[in-house]
Amino acid sequence: MTQNTDALWCWNEDCPDYGVKDKGNIVPKEYSGKHGNVLYRCRTCGSCFSETHGTPFFGLKTPKKEIIRVLAMLPEKGSIRGLARATGYDKDTICAWIRRAGEHTKQVNEYFMRDLHLNAVQVDEIWAYIKKRKKTSNLTKKG
Ligand SMILES: [Zn+2]
Repeated sequence: MTQNTDALWCWNEDCPDYGVKDKGNIVPKEYSGKHGNVLYRCRTCGSCFSETHGTPFFGLKTPKKEIIRVLAMLPEKGSIRGLARATGYDKDTICAWIRRAGEHTKQVNEYFMRDLHLNAVQVDEIWAYIKKRKKTSNLTKKG
């Protein structure tokens, strides 16, 4: 199993391989010891990005696919509490995912569309919920 590489793709929208996974065009460029992040380079267009840039849910224990699957259920369940009950995940865990998703809306959008095959309307519904949450509870809790 290769860790996290499924989520790595070129993030340059002008690149021919933009959004294409498993093509082998993404190579590690350098290791930045300061934050422990690896810098990657796209061999197709030459642009660089960090692994955290490419993976909104980097460093989390739960697989990306599972996270987006749970987040996608948000409109259906109506609340984080309801979602936590339905999925068995901790409320705080789900809040953390929502926070991450909110910081990488573009990438997460892609996940919803590509991995879950949701349409724009469905994705909009999910974001409406996420944004509503962000407004009402401005969580700044760390950890
Ligand atoms: Zn590229």
